[in-house]
Amino acid sequence: MCGITGYIGARQAAPILLEGLSKLEYRGYDSAGLALLNGSEMDVRKKKGRVSVLAQEVKKHFFDSHLGISHTRWATHGAVTDANAHPHVSSCGNFAMVHNGVIENYENIKSFLLTKGYTFRSQTDSEALVNLIAYHYYKLPENSENRFLESVRRALLHLEGTYGIAVICRMQPDEIIAARKGSPLIIGIGDSERMVSSDVLGFSGRARSVIYLDDGQIAKVTADSCEVVSANNELVPYVTNSVDWELDSAELGSFSTYMEKEIFEQPKVIENAIRGRISDDASTAVLNGLNMTPSEMRQIDRILFCACGTAWHACLVAENLIEKYTRIPVEVEYASEFRYRNAPLDKNTLAFVISQSGETIDTLEALRESRRKGFKTLAITNSVGSTIARESDGGLYQHAGREIGVASTKAFTSQITICILIALYIGRMRDLSFAQGKEIVGALKALPSAVEETLKLAPELKKLAGKYCKYHDFLFLGRLDEFPIALEGALKLKEISYIHAEGYPAAEMKHGPIALVSPECPTLIFANSGDIFNKVISNAQEIKARKGPLIIVTDSPDRFPEGLADDVVVIPKVHESVRPVVSTIPIQLLAYYIAQQLGCDVDKPRNLAKSVTVE
Ligand code: GLU
Repeated sequence: MCGITGYIGARQAAPILLEGLSKLEYRGYDSAGLALLNGSEMDVRKKKGRVSVLAQEVKKHFFDSHLGISHTRWATHGAVTDANAHPHVSSCGNFAMVHNGVIENYENIKSFLLTKGYTFRSQTDSEALVNLIAYHYYKLPENSENRFLESVRRALLHLEGTYGIAVICRMQPDEIIAARKGSPLIIGIGDSERMVSSDVLGFSGRARSVIYLDDGQIAKVTADSCEVVSANNELVPYVTNSVDWELDSAELGSFSTYMEKEIFEQPKVIENAIRGRISDDASTAVLNGLNMTPSEMRQIDRILFCACGTAWHACLVAENLIEKYTRIPVEVEYASEFRYRNAPLDKNTLAFVISQSGETIDTLEALRESRRKGFKTLAITNSVGSTIARESDGGLYQHAGREIGVASTKAFTSQITICILIALYIGRMRDLSFAQGKEIVGALKALPSAVEETLKLAPELKKLAGKYCKYHDFLFLGRLDEFPIALEGALKLKEISYIHAEGYPAAEMKHGPIALVSPECPTLIFANSGDIFNKVISNAQEIKARKGPLIIVTDSPDRFPEGLADDVVVIPKVHESVRPVVSTIPIQLLAYYIAQQLGCDVDKPRNLAKSVTVE
């Protein structure tokens, strides 16, 4: 969470910092600020609200500067106020710092610094660190080499928690010190200019190449150089990487919101997830990124999936599919619980983590925990070069293009598609026959056009949204493969429209949630062809009998009595292996249009941020 940008070079820093921040707003948007240096003069502006509010403020107070740092916040400690916005300035006024993460021992640091005469202006954890940096700076001899960097390094040795930071100092007006542990930080290299950012997107296409800092590393960045040291002050050789994000995918085009754009990109996104990963000859998937030989793969007798939020729902889909097609038991864990739960793992367990951003801190820690215990751990992520991608033993990139809308849509269907490929791949090494493999291959190939077809439901779902947006509660029900999609439907609606919603296995409803059913609480139920079609229809009848408004999403509208549902949404008939992808489209569209009808900011829903980099 939170976006950091920093700039040092020949151009005016403020417009570049603000442009970068606006690209990073998806990471947090409760307040924003920047600090600029011109020689030993420092100008700090910070404002509650969006980056645009800060931009207005900066416009009013031009300050000539070629070096600065900036921040868009997602508050963890301290309310959303101007004072708590970053950058934070040391009480001596000489240091300014932006921070992403949580400093867990800030109270101890603060108490110590109060005894030394330091004062505090905010309620944040971050302010303790900038003062600790100042404290170490003044403890070092005046003429000591790399005094600024060394003071940051020494301060960080006392820290518990996570950080991505950028710091500037009035006595050192030609450098930015950047460091990370647990929160991403990248250095961008341009022509006689350097930048720092939480995400390559913050470079606005300006960086020719980038350096990904690793945990514990500290960098001294000047306009034409970069020096990286480890926590124990050894010089670290670094590699530069070319930037391979298609930055243009961050443009809105003709769509009114990123979420809408991303929903409609899904046929292409699914095509990208499949591209080059299918073998017709062997009726299987080709997944070289897993870095495992077939014989290693055959030794697996348990699979673990870890993720958070929407990606956790993708894991549930993976569980159903992999168990069905490979007969290998699959365990799904919340990444946030995994390392604290100390779950017993079988020795032949293969672990997967899923994270769109590749920076989700809970998922990253789950990955580290699993690898620390010696388990091969693979990642499914949409972010090339992200920390999760770099620290895993292998994995599969989603190639879904940048997802900006805070509520995940295309990343989810892309993750499911990749999980179908994994189920097919392992299944074909086990009991799945050539003919069964061929059916799934055919279904995958036809999936982009099935999704395209399903997206044509948009006008119909927009109309339904008008009818259903007045309710305050919603139920989403599905069975087997569609239970995770029911969960995802409820999450999508909650996230962007703030309507209370619950997802449940349809048959479980009578063990509790049926108490909620009334004319005031509509239900959306998935009823698709398959062995338990009639059972699901019975569940739908139970809702109708209690006068609950009912939407049925189905591929078989002629198999249940007319009049059972208040509204029927007909999706294309596809192979059961790919149906979770197709079933997802109506719930995304419904949530999107309901939120739009209610006038909600769908791309930046309240209290949320895209990339959750704090625990
Ligand atoms: N913990 C810091 C704060 O609450 C930084 C949060 C962030 O990552 O935006 O201000």
